[in-house]
Amino acid sequence: MNISVAIDGPAAAGKSTIANIIAHRFSLVYINTGFMYRAVTLMCMKEDVSYTDVQGVCEIAKSLEICFDGDRILVNGKDFTDLIRQPNISSNVSNYAAISELRKLLVDMQQKIASKCNVVMDGRDIGTVVLKNAPLKFFLTASASERAKRRCVELNKKGIPAEYDKVLDEIIKRDYIDSHRAVSPLVKSEDAVEIDSSNLSILEVVEIISKYIIKYIEGHNQ
Ligand code: C5P
Repeated sequence: MNISVAIDGPAAAGKSTIANIIAHRFSLVYINTGFMYRAVTLMCMKEDVSYTDVQGVCEIAKSLEICFDGDRILVNGKDFTDLIRQPNISSNVSNYAAISELRKLLVDMQQKIASKCNVVMDGRDIGTVVLKNAPLKFFLTASASERAKRRCVELNKKGIPAEYDKVLDEIIKRDYIDSHRAVSPLVKSEDAVEIDSSNLSILEVVEIISKYIIKYIEGHNQ
């Protein structure tokens, strides 16, 4: 049976933690599409290629061999997971992600992966563009203050210094760019289930999503 699960939502809503647990629970391949935009951003910044240089950005993106290993991303054989989560990448990635030519390249890659295996994919345009026909779509939200609090805890745990006000400011700016860009802006797909996790734990959200997945599986096993 084919299953694909789409999880969209604003920055730091807990998508990746939840998608990773769902992937393990239901034996799905987890594709963190934000990591792909972050990896391209990191490489462009390393090579001094600005987001205004569309051709340069696309050349870099085409030169990258991107693979996923659980919740890790490998770029040209190297584990990039920790590097791409750094705050300087977070504050620049939305400018690169607004480039329509880059989005086309990455969406093609994402759709190719999804055509070969059962996936849970998280991002901003999964339910609306990448997996438009996915039977299971979720839109995960939480208040900006709650998301900033959670992101600070997560960064501090990794030994990355994080100030609440700066993190909140970055999240608000990123959400604004992501939801106002011309191509594939962050919007809830009409058929997605919206979950506000402001007052829910990670596991409570996982349980809600799991119930929908189990119901879907049961309905297709008869
Ligand atoms: O999910 P994460 O916060 O790591 O994503 C980083 C950035 O990548 C987002 O703020 C957004 O600009 C971009 N992105 C996107 N479309 C996706 C996934 C991420 O535009 N499907």
